[in-house]
Amino acid sequence: MSAFTIEIIPCLTDNYAYLVSGEGLVAVIDPSEAAPVEAALKGRRLTHILNTHHHWDHSGGNRALKDRHGAEVVGPEKDRTRIPAIDTGVDESGWRLGPHALAVLEVPGHTRGAVAYMFGDAVFTGDTLFAMGCGRLFEGTPQMMVESLAKFAALPDDTAVYCGHEYTVTNARFAMTLEPNNRALRERLAKVHAMRGHGMPTMPSTIGEEKATNPFLRTDSAEIRATLGLETASAVEVFAAIRARKDRF
Ligand code: ZN
Ligand code: FE
Repeated sequence: MSAFTIEIIPCLTDNYAYLVSGEGLVAVIDPSEAAPVEAALKGRRLTHILNTHHHWDHSGGNRALKDRHGAEVVGPEKDRTRIPAIDTGVDESGWRLGPHALAVLEVPGHTRGAVAYMFGDAVFTGDTLFAMGCGRLFEGTPQMMVESLAKFAALPDDTAVYCGHEYTVTNARFAMTLEPNNRALRERLAKVHAMRGHGMPTMPSTIGEEKATNPFLRTDSAEIRATLGLETASAVEVFAAIRARKDRF
């Protein structure tokens, strides 16, 4: 039982912001724009604005929402200078909000300051971990991203995963090119394709589903390694090869 209610807010073309509410808390995660967040609030006052990383499609709504609600803006301390209107910088030492102790994971790779937020048994991964994918390496190295993804893989299998973008079907199609005999992957592709056909978000997934189907968490898969011709390579080499293929997919 989670102490938090989570609402999904589609923004821009394929971004998701999330509204997380609980005792003394109405927080938005990654508001790329203010208007859809205002609509989702239905008159509630926003108390916090959280950013997983500095990109505009995750923080573009900060200023307008802060001006209107007086909400506290929280983001990665390491990227303090690049988060619009930031008040509070956080790192892995975590963050306290009234009765809630919130865990923060530092997950560099997509950007050097990227963080993920944990609310109870839910994790908000921004552009680091996607459903069956991961973010591009704009500011980090494969080694860095492999270490960041390992932090997600270490969470309990039933942890709910909320990502920054609806890239799920494309990610699944790419994953199928690497591991066509992965039955869990085939089934998940069919499932998410049907969900999108009905206009439903594919969020959340779970850490267990990601470990079973996300190629970036499956660098030890014999089938993926055979597809790449990298049977004896290190995990970081396999990751880098998958990432390079996805960049061209
Ligand atoms: Zn981004
Ligand atoms: Fe993004």
